[in-house]
Parts: sequence; C-alpha cells; structure tokens
Amino acid sequence: MANMTSFREFSQVCRLIENTPGSLDMTTILAELLLRVTPEELPVVTHFVMGEVFPAWSSEEVGIGAGIFYTALAKSTGLNISDIKEILRDTGDIGKTASRALKKVTSGQSTFSSFLGGSNELSILEVFERFWSISRTSGKGSQANKIKNLQYLFSSASPQEISYISRLAVGELRIGVGEGIVRDAISEAFDVPVKDVERSFMLTNDLGLVAASAHKGGKDALSSLGLELNRPIRMMLAQVTPSLDVALSDIGTAAVEWKFDGARVQIHKQGGNVTLFSRKLENITESLPDIVEAVKNNVSADSAILDGEAVAIDEHGRPRAFQETLKRFRRKYDIDITAREIPLVLNLFDIMYLNGEDLIELPLVQRREKLKECVANDERIRVDTLYLTDDPEKILNIYNDALRAGHEGVMIKNPDSPYSPGKRGKNWLKKKPVMETLDLAVIGAEWGYGRRTSFLGSYALACHDPDTGLFLPVGRVATGFSDEQLSELTGMFKDLIVMESGTQVEVRPEIIFEVAFEEIQKSTNYGSGYALRFPRLVNVRIDKSIEDVETIGRIEELYLMQRQSN
Ligand code: AMP
Repeated sequence: MANMTSFREFSQVCRLIENTPGSLDMTTILAELLLRVTPEELPVVTHFVMGEVFPAWSSEEVGIGAGIFYTALAKSTGLNISDIKEILRDTGDIGKTASRALKKVTSGQSTFSSFLGGSNELSILEVFERFWSISRTSGKGSQANKIKNLQYLFSSASPQEISYISRLAVGELRIGVGEGIVRDAISEAFDVPVKDVERSFMLTNDLGLVAASAHKGGKDALSSLGLELNRPIRMMLAQVTPSLDVALSDIGTAAVEWKFDGARVQIHKQGGNVTLFSRKLENITESLPDIVEAVKNNVSADSAILDGEAVAIDEHGRPRAFQETLKRFRRKYDIDITAREIPLVLNLFDIMYLNGEDLIELPLVQRREKLKECVANDERIRVDTLYLTDDPEKILNIYNDALRAGHEGVMIKNPDSPYSPGKRGKNWLKKKPVMETLDLAVIGAEWGYGRRTSFLGSYALACHDPDTGLFLPVGRVATGFSDEQLSELTGMFKDLIVMESGTQVEVRPEIIFEVAFEEIQKSTNYGSGYALRFPRLVNVRIDKSIEDVETIGRIEELYLMQRQSN
C-alpha cells in the first residue's frame, strides 16, 4: 500500500493556500496535493479542503457544536471554559484558540506526536475516521464519546495541525477554497477537461468521487459516472425576472407553469422504495408518509428521480401559508396526526431519471412528456399544466390565475433547456408580485441589552462567493423581532456559535434568513462592498441550505438593475 499522508502535510498545504492571494496559484497548489495523496485519501482530502468532512448530499454530519468543542478543549488543557473563551476573544479564531490553549499546557513537555516523529504521526485518514466515529454516535453517551474523540485528536497533533482539526471540526475551515477551485484543481491534476469535471459533479454531487474517478480513469472514468438512486442531486434553481417582457425576450417561446407556494421535494423511487429529500438534501421520508404513499400508488415508473413542490392545503384545496408546509417537513413525532391536520399536495414539475436512464440532458418539454406518462394525477399528487407560449398577455392570464388560486406567481422556463443541478440561470425565471427578497446566511449576532440580555439579536447577514467559498457581509437585520421569535432564534443559534467577543458572536453559517430591503447600496463597511438599506426578516428559511445563499454576483446584478430602473 502506498504511504499514508500525514495530517501535518495537509495542514502545511492549508497554510500555504491561505497565504496565497491568487486563485490560479491556489489551484496549482491544490492540484499538487491531489496528485500526491493515495487513492483512498483523495476523496477525503477533496472534501477537507472545502471545509467539509462528508459530501454535501450525505446525511452524515460531524455535529460538533461550540459547547462540545469548548468542553473537549477544557478537558484536554485543564483550563476553564471561561479561560478558553478569553483566548478566543483575543485570537478571534477557533483554530488559533485551540492550538494556543494546548500549547500552554504542553509547553516543555513535548507530548505532541509530531515531535516523536515518523510513524506516530496522525494521518489524514485517521482524522477522518475520528470524525466519522463522532458522526456515528447518537443518543445517550454520545456527547462524552464526541468529546473523547476530540481529545484524542488534540493529544495526537502538533499546534498547527490542531488549528486545522479544530476548524474542520466546527465547520469553519475557510481557507478560501470553494467548488470552483477544486473543480479546476481536479482538471489540472488529472489532465481532464474542466467541463467533464463539472458535468460529473452535477450528476454525482460529490467532488470527492469525481476526483477519485478522474485519478483512476481520466475522462473515460468521468463519463461513466451518472445519477444514482438515493444519492440526491442539487436542485435546479430559478432567477428573478424583472418583467414578463424581459423573460420572453430572453427565452422566446416559453414553458410557463404556476409557481406553487410550498416546499421543494426530490423524490427517488426504486421499485417499492420511495425516498424523499428536502431542498437541503436532507432525507425527509419519515416526515411525509402520505407523499410516500402517493408516489407508490401513482407513479408507474419502476425507478425514477422526480422534482416537485409539496404544498399544504386547506379543506377547500387552497394553499395554506408557507409556514404550514414547513411544519410537516420538520416533524419527528405525531407524524400521522400532523399529516391529517395539514394535508399536502405534491405538484411534480420535472423528472431527471427514469428506469435506468439519466434524463437531465433532455430538453425540458421532452422530460415533461415522460413525467406526464408515468404519473396518474389525483388529489394528492399531480403534474400540472405546462403552457407553451410567446404571448405576454397569455402569460399574464396564467399569472393572474395562479395568484387567484393562492399561489406565488409563475415560472417561465426555457422549453429546450436541460436540468442543471445546483444552477441558478436564465433557463428558469420566476415572476412574483412581491418585491424581491434575498436569501442570506446569518454569520453573526449580538447579545441584547436590558430585558433582552439573554437573547441573540441584530443578526449579521452575508452573501456567498462561490469561487472562494467565503461568506461576505452585506448588513444586519435587527428590528421587528418579537420576544418569542428572539427566544426561538437564540435557541437555534446558540449551538452554532464559533466565537464570542463582548456581546458579539460569530456563528457558523447554517441558517438562512429571507430578507426584504429597500435598496442595495455600495458600502465600504461590509466585506461584500455592498450594504442593504432597511433590511427586515421575512422568513427563517429552514428549508433552504447554504447553497441557496445569494452569490456576490447576484447582489452586484441587483445593484446594477436597480440603478438602471432608477
Ligand atoms: P424561490 O424559492 O423564490 O427561489 O423560487 C424557486 C422555488 O420555487 C423552487 O425552488 C421551488 O421550490 C418553487 N417552485 C414552485 N413551483 C415551481 C415550478 N413550477 N417549477 C420550479 N420551481 C417551483
């Protein structure tokens, strides 16, 4: 077996990348690392550099909150949690905090394995296995088990390694490597075209797997990768269109559908087995037994991957508020009762896979035909009408009908377009009456004053830079929260805290706020270069994931659009 790569080497590359300003140079450094590691390590390293331990589609999660992390560090160092928080305030970084705290207790003792040299060094795979074992523990005693595993890692690594282990553990690696750089590095390392890497990433949703295949068999191996049942792909996303005329001039004859006001579901059917994934690609099969039944009974395909929107309806069949639909998605208990109280309708609008065949490259209209053929409509599951038209008046009528029926507006799609997982582009345009809102990641918050000292408020919002994987601040939303809402949000954010300084906290970007605003302005106060004027919270989008966060490109685009229309 080839020699295992040490975690020390991985840390050194992380450090080098962090200190490299240009993305081209970063790509080359990463490509060299991908070439050096063993085939077994390759997928792990590919995920690690992006700050993830498991592929985004997987249901495995490391699940180390700030509480567990501080406790493990306190136990390993003999320091109090308050001492650790003090160091964190000083360093502003969880990695530096861990290595400084551990240095304090071990200075002069040389207990770090790297000082012993050679075979005792922690390997990349060993770190992965510890994380895997942490993710596997659940129920009683799981906290203690997670802490023990972390302590093991702390005691086996050098200060620099500890810094990166800590950042990985809490999901805060942030060395500036995003999917774009990894994609280019795979292409450079294994001499395969970027577009083949991109295509296989869309189909598999797993750059680790793509890297391993490129290494094994180059372009040919990549072309043999395809969709797989029960491995969710990312959802195709929609862009806003300022008007129907703009949409038609972009698309020509358009495929127009109602935009249903519910929550996205990806359905995988394999014989009698049905698995449902949320927009965040979480497995939500257990929460929606009625949808599972409807798919089993009404979808005739032997195997299929379908896309649709589940909508909560009232006794007249009209859609209920969006929050009602979400209640169904979060359910862990009393599922049958809730299913009776909040019935859902599944509106299917796309099919990506049918009886062993990938369909994502087929034009939308052809996919739609296949979808219609395999679904029998009834009151729980349906394929709604798709109108093909280039007449703005007709679209306006469809739009008004959708609004009258209690839905959100229309989707205007390019009838010739493929299904592009994870892409937000001009092939799917959405038109809603309400002012555009933004989906932003919460990256920080502030402890309140007076009556609200135990509440986190004033949430720092950020957009996303897909090239670097970094979150760029665009403003704060602070007003309009009730005490009840603040208390619920505080509960949600507490475990995501990665750093505290005075009343300010930094949180792991996991929760998405849908925010309305008056205007986007240029600003030097925020890292994105833009600021939202009068942002206000519209919804906490627990159904959306970090991939849904608006990109910096989108913010720039909206800024320019707004200037044109002024
Ligand atoms: P938004 O959440 O505003 O970005 O709008 C896009 C979302 O609308 C999709 O992610 C779906 O959840 C939802 N949607 C509702 N109806 C449709 C439809 N006919 N086609 C595609 N997406 C739809």
